[in-house]
Amino acid sequence: MNIDFTHTYSAALNEFVIESSPDKIDNPELVFFNSDLDESLNLNLGNNDSQALGDFFAGNSLTSKAHAQAYAGHQFGHYNPQLGDGRALIIGEHIDLSGHKHDLCLKGSGRTPFSRGGDGKAALGPMLREVLIAESMHALNIPTTRSLAVVKTNEDVYRQSMEPGAILCRTAASHIRIGTFQFVSNYAREEGVKKLADYAIARHYPQCSKTDKPYINFLNCVVNKQAELIAKWMSVGFIHGVMNTDNMCISGETIDYGPCAFMEAYHPETVFSSIDHQGRYAYQNQPAIAQWNLARLAETLLPLLSDDEQASIDIATQSVTDFGKQYKVSWHQAMRAKLGFHTEVDNQTMEREIALINRFLDIIQDNKADFTLSWLYIGNLLKNEAFEYGELIDNNENFKVWFTEYLAALNIADTIDQTNSSLQKAIKTMANANPVVIPRNHNVEQALTDAATLDNFDEFNNLYKVINQPFENSNAPSRYILPANTNFTQHFKTFCGT
Ligand code: AMP
Ligand code: MG
Repeated sequence: MNIDFTHTYSAALNEFVIESSPDKIDNPELVFFNSDLDESLNLNLGNNDSQALGDFFAGNSLTSKAHAQAYAGHQFGHYNPQLGDGRALIIGEHIDLSGHKHDLCLKGSGRTPFSRGGDGKAALGPMLREVLIAESMHALNIPTTRSLAVVKTNEDVYRQSMEPGAILCRTAASHIRIGTFQFVSNYAREEGVKKLADYAIARHYPQCSKTDKPYINFLNCVVNKQAELIAKWMSVGFIHGVMNTDNMCISGETIDYGPCAFMEAYHPETVFSSIDHQGRYAYQNQPAIAQWNLARLAETLLPLLSDDEQASIDIATQSVTDFGKQYKVSWHQAMRAKLGFHTEVDNQTMEREIALINRFLDIIQDNKADFTLSWLYIGNLLKNEAFEYGELIDNNENFKVWFTEYLAALNIADTIDQTNSSLQKAIKTMANANPVVIPRNHNVEQALTDAATLDNFDEFNNLYKVINQPFENSNAPSRYILPANTNFTQHFKTFCGT
C-alpha cells in the first residue's frame, strides 16, 4: 500500500520539523475507516483489506519519511515556547482532484523529540471521540480536520486507568497553527516568519500573494476565517474547551478535539472541561478568546506588516479589532437562518434580527431549554405541528410577545397560514440550519465505554451513522435526539484525552 505523498511543508520549513518514525505496532486492528472521506479525497485506499489498512494506519508500512512539527503556544493564557507534535506525526500531504493539499497525520504513534514527559500514545476512547465530534462538525457544515481511520494498537496505555491504545489518522488542510507562528517568531525572527507566512499564503490564501500587501491581507484573511468559524461553533452550541493558540489553525478548520462538547440546556457560561476551572473557554467566551489568539498571531507578523514599527502596530490592531465586526456579521448570518430569516438585510433589519435572536436566547436560558431542540420547537410552531420532544418553553406573556414580533419580522400574520410563501421559505431555511441530531454527550460516552471496555462497537457505529445526517433526520431514533437527564449533564466533565 502506497500513497504518493508530497512533503512541501518539511521541505520549505525544514528547520521547524524533526524527522521521526512511528513505533512499530504488532497486530494493529482497524476499527474505523471513513470510506466517504477516502473517496472524497480520492485516496482510494478502500480496496485494500483491513490488515493492510491496519498496518498502514499504524505506521508500519510507511514508504516515506514522517515529521513532527514544532510549535509553541499560549496554554490557558501562559506561554509555552516549545510544544510541538509530542504524540503525532505528519506522514505526508495528499493532493485531491481539485488540487487541494491535505496533511495526513497519525495521532498516538509514539514518542517524538517533542514528547517531553508524555508517552506519545493515545487511548482508544478519546480517538473515537474525535471521530464522532469531528465528523459531526463536518456534517454540520463546519470547517474541521477529519478522521480517516482508527486502529487499535493492542497495547495498553495508562491514563486515569489502563486503557486500550489506538492511533487516529487525521486529515487537515494543514497543521499550521497560531502556535507555529509563535514558535518560528521566537526562534527565527522576521526571516523565519516570512518563510512560514509565504508558505501559509501559498497553501491557504493564494489570493493574498497577488496583492501589494500580502501579509496584511493574510492576517485579515485569517481573522475573517476565524470569525466565521467561531460563529458557526456558537450556532450549534459547540464548546471547544481548549482554545490554546496551538489548537487554532491558520486554515480556519476546527482542530484538536479534546475536552470539547455540545451544550444541552442553554447557558452562556457552560463549561465541560475538567481543567478549565476559571471558565476561560466557556461557551460565551469563545469569540473573545479567538480574538485574543489572533492578537498573538498578529504580534508575530508585526515585522512584515510595515517598515515602520508604529504603523505595523496600528495595522495589526485594526485587523484584530475588525474581528469584532466580522464576527457580528458571521454570527448574525448563522443565527438568522436558525430562526428562518431569509430576506436580504440592510443594517437596520440586521439590528432588529439580532435583538430578536438575543431575546430568544434569553427566553431559552430562562427556561433552561435544550439549545438544539429550541430551534426545532420554533420550527414546529411555524409548521403548526405538535412538538414531540416535550414542552420546552413556557408559553407565557413574554414568549407570546416575542413570538408575535418574530412573526411580524418574518412577514407572517399572527394566524399562521401554511400557503404563505414567506412562511414556507422560513421553514425550509430553518430545516437546513437547525440540526436534529448532534453528538449528545451521554450517547458519545456510551459508545466509547462499550468500545473501550467491552470491545463492542455497535453503539459507536449506530451513533456514527446518525450524526452523519444531522438535518431533517426523521429516521433518527429519539434517544439520539433527546438530551441527557439533567443529573448526567450536571456531572458531565470532559478531559483532554492525553
Ligand atoms: P493537546 O492538549 O492535545 O493540544 O496537547 C498539548 C501538547 O501536549 C502538544 O504538544 C501535544 O503533542 C502534547 N501531548 C499531548 N499528549 C501527549 C502524550 N501522550 N505524549 C506526548 N505528548 C503529548
Ligand atoms: Mg493540541
